[in-house]
Amino acid sequence: MSIDLNAMGKAYTAGTWVLKNVSAHIESGEFFAIVGPSGCGKSTLLRMIAGLIPISEGELRINDQVATNLPPKDRKLTMVFQSYALFPFLSVADNVAFGLKARKFPADEVAKRVEQAVSLVNLTEFRDRKPRDLSGGQRQRVALARAIASDAKICLMDEPLSNLDAQLRVKMRTELRNLQRKLGLTVIYVTHDQIEAMTMADHIMVLHNHDVQQIGTPLEIYNQPANTFVGSFFGTPRMNLLPAKVSGNTELTLADTLLLALPQPLPVADYVVGIRPNALRILPQGSGEPNAQVQTVEYLGAQVLLEAQFANGTAVELIADPHQDYQPGDWLSVVVTGSAYIFDHRGQAQMMVEGGNGHASGNYANAQAPVNA
Ligand code: ADP
Repeated sequence: MSIDLNAMGKAYTAGTWVLKNVSAHIESGEFFAIVGPSGCGKSTLLRMIAGLIPISEGELRINDQVATNLPPKDRKLTMVFQSYALFPFLSVADNVAFGLKARKFPADEVAKRVEQAVSLVNLTEFRDRKPRDLSGGQRQRVALARAIASDAKICLMDEPLSNLDAQLRVKMRTELRNLQRKLGLTVIYVTHDQIEAMTMADHIMVLHNHDVQQIGTPLEIYNQPANTFVGSFFGTPRMNLLPAKVSGNTELTLADTLLLALPQPLPVADYVVGIRPNALRILPQGSGEPNAQVQTVEYLGAQVLLEAQFANGTAVELIADPHQDYQPGDWLSVVVTGSAYIFDHRGQAQMMVEGGNGHASGNYANAQAPVNA
């Protein structure tokens, strides 16, 4: 079952738009994640799709049929929430059966579906237990089994794993993804966790400031961020955003010190250049002009994360060799060796430069194709 959001918007009170102009096409059988910081409108969008709250403007289509004003029960979808909402006095099997019984399914059909769903989520041996005698992960799987048993081909999930501990969350991500593929479910999955979206989704919609910032595959979102928000929201440690000015015809100066050769000229203006910490390199001592001073040193295991400061006061984070001893106060010679994303003063992507030398270049968003790419 495919889903289309056509310029959908929501105002809880007249004139105050929580979401505006949200459009997307969600393919049948795909895992579609809606991601953004708390309060950006993720749950609002999901609840509009579910039919729990009215759609203020725009259109919703399910399987190419207009569903904007369809009652929730006719939308052929199920929901799994952050809180499992299980009935404490019912067994696992009865919890799974509840919705089917309420909809007056024949008893043998209910029994068949319950056994199938419970077995799919590996809870057969726990089928007679009450929720209080289950772990958090098992309870979450009961909620999933309930969604599966319902026979709906669309499942909406709102932060379903956020109550679980870190280890279980990682395990459940894989289980959920496998189950979704096996059943051919179309899943719309709300999360504030960029890693969850990156590891699970076929496509990601990034929401911020009442607006869709970008829709793309995890790779597109990571490698071709449409703006500074997307660039810095995805990836750990975060992308550095350095102030930059055009100097000469085909060169940018970042933080008054780093030079970035451009494959094609840019209009004279102020820019912001996004560089992930692993796209910066520290030259061996003595082989370059020192330009940044170490502020803090954080050991991450296989890597060291350094927070440093350029002479003009701009902070920068970089990944360093864990075998080298860095101390706060040390001076480093930092150069750009990986991808540099050039954004205009409003934060919109203009151009991507590879390797910091201008020889290889990519382009995306509004950028013109470079002649010698
Ligand atoms: P998210 O799920 O991304 O955290 P929400 O969709 O819950 O965001 O909320 C988006 C915005 O809408 C927030 O500013 C929130 O305060 C507001 N909001 C959510 N529900 C209601 C409501 N029932 N009435 C009025 N405003 C609401």
